[in-house]
Amino acid sequence: MKQRKGSLFVVSAPSGAGKTTLCWKLCDSLAGIKHSISYTTRSPRHGEINGVHYTFVDEDEFRSMITEGEFVEWAEVHGNFYGTSKKRIEDMTNEGCDVILDIDVHGARQIKEHSPDSVLIFVLPPSMEALKERLAGRKTDSEDVIKTRLRNAIGEIGEYKNYDYVIVNDSLDTALKELSSIVIAERVRISKMERDWIKENFLII
Ligand code: ADP
Ligand code: 5GP
Repeated sequence: MKQRKGSLFVVSAPSGAGKTTLCWKLCDSLAGIKHSISYTTRSPRHGEINGVHYTFVDEDEFRSMITEGEFVEWAEVHGNFYGTSKKRIEDMTNEGCDVILDIDVHGARQIKEHSPDSVLIFVLPPSMEALKERLAGRKTDSEDVIKTRLRNAIGEIGEYKNYDYVIVNDSLDTALKELSSIVIAERVRISKMERDWIKENFLII
């Protein structure tokens, strides 16, 4: 029997705050946590690999997955559809693996409703100026796309109150330590332990 079931960690942020960087660094540096690979109708960016960063599908396929009830949450973000596969995250948590979901504020709300013991983390940039610089510096989006993302940032940041933690991603090392600490603390929470594991191993003589 496993000591505990895996937990869900939801990370949201305005585009460019650095959440993708943080989530991947966390999975590289901490054992027992995996990134959830979302489905999206967005086109792949340079360097993005299908099945690694996202599963890229067309709108018809995405809509039929909605109809089939395959998503635990989905949303339209900056003009594209994004969704989290129910089966993918259940398979990981049932194996005792924690899962980190890099999803938008609407998706985060849906996950909290579906799994109230999920942990919601909001990532802020150090300033709006830094956000602009990071979006431009990433060199993956056109000026129009950057403008849309900056316009949407204010609405997204207003959602911070619905989260359990806020991390300001100024120094990447500090932000990563803070994110790791949240995950590690959650792993030893009594409510996340399998009570039967303690009973069978320690309380039955
Ligand atoms: P998001 O997933 O939130 O849209 P990214 O992870 O793609 O953001 O990061 C946006 C850009 O900012 C990338 O070029 C990334 O390398 C850079 N970046 C991330 N964190 C930091 C940081 N702490 N300091 C400076 N640049 C950062
Ligand atoms: P990007 O296009 O920059 O990769 O992501 C744009 C936004 O979509 C980000 O806020 C990201 O967190 C969000 N996103 C990525 N995958 C999902 C998902 O499966 N569901 C939801 N709701 N949002 C997602």
